[in-house]
Amino acid sequence: MAKSCRIKSLHKTLRRLLMLYHDCIEKLLQLKDVIVTNIEKHENEMHIHLKMAQRLHYCPACGKITSKVHDYRSQIVKDVSICGFHTILHLKKRRHVCPSCGKRFDEHIDFLPRYHHFTNRVNLQVYEQLKECRSIKSIAKDNNMSAPTAAKIINQIDFKTGKLPQVLAIDEFKGNAEGEKFQCILADPKNHKVIDILPNRRHEMIRHHIMRFSNRKEVKLVVMDMTGGYRKLMKELFPHAKIIVDKYHYVRQIGFALERIRIEEQKRLSQHWRRYFKRSKYLLLKDSSRLTMEDRIQLDNLFRISEPLKRAYALKEQFEHVKSSHNRQEAAERLSRWIMDAQNSRLPEFFKVSLTYQNWSKEILNSFEYPYTNGYIEGCNNRIKVLKRVSFGMPRFERFRRRIMHIMLD
Ligand SMILES: [Zn+2]
Repeated sequence: MAKSCRIKSLHKTLRRLLMLYHDCIEKLLQLKDVIVTNIEKHENEMHIHLKMAQRLHYCPACGKITSKVHDYRSQIVKDVSICGFHTILHLKKRRHVCPSCGKRFDEHIDFLPRYHHFTNRVNLQVYEQLKECRSIKSIAKDNNMSAPTAAKIINQIDFKTGKLPQVLAIDEFKGNAEGEKFQCILADPKNHKVIDILPNRRHEMIRHHIMRFSNRKEVKLVVMDMTGGYRKLMKELFPHAKIIVDKYHYVRQIGFALERIRIEEQKRLSQHWRRYFKRSKYLLLKDSSRLTMEDRIQLDNLFRISEPLKRAYALKEQFEHVKSSHNRQEAAERLSRWIMDAQNSRLPEFFKVSLTYQNWSKEILNSFEYPYTNGYIEGCNNRIKVLKRVSFGMPRFERFRRRIMHIMLD
């Protein structure tokens, strides 16, 4: 009697230990209902032999419930790495047979999609990692898969956008994909979304692409820069939209003009005056409200030897006044005053800028009325540059496009 009691309690303890073991394995692997039968370590690989806990299955043919096993097959499945080891699951898979209709079918495994050799969570991990500015090759290596397999995951995502946003931004970037130096990017600057990437910047291609959107006449604002000659095309494609010139883009022209004059002056003046140009690039472009007393003295000295720089700097400061306008009306008055002064400045560099501003004044003034810029697209372009660098170029356009769209989802 005492002996049978001891055996009973031993069984109970063993059962409890076994449950604890399965529980620990489940928590460690984060896979539900698996029974691990063996674990082997080979160099940088962890081989886990396992099978599923037995469950009832519905017959896919007649719907009858069964757990009857016909035979077992071994399948090799790659999983996310454990402690830095590539993990390989050796799954002993059951093939059931329906006692009612005789249909044979594989047991269902939650973590493994049909006909796949990677667990769901590997696919998910790759999907997330593809949002980083990393090369496909490096992501594939991390996940113990080939680059084409990793690429397949991104090829399956549907990036089609059916509608154009009310505020549309357009810009180009140097992508060097499929024999085209420049690619075009369409974005929604209001909701921070990439709408699409176009294979080149040719007008007929942009037109063809935009025409496919049925709601193009609902576009209210188009943000763009002054290069690329898109204005006419944008007016044609979006007849009800106002065009806004990106603020950073037109403001930058002033800095460029000032810098060109600075370089010319430095070249023109003899060696003797060179010391006056020390830090001059930085000082001329620095926000004047942040200039120290020392900075001001240095600039005054510079202006004493270079009259053109003095005039150019005055125009830069005057444009700050334009930028600080509170409304369109005020900006219009200040801008036209600035254009006039720039044209009378006897500075060819600024004369050129004034002509550009005159030509684009309506679109520049629109930027005082609406808060949209191409700042978001600039951000995209920076990430594209990183992606290109880490991938040593992205020659295939479609993959390039998909990567950008995916990265910018974040
Ligand atoms: Zn059946």
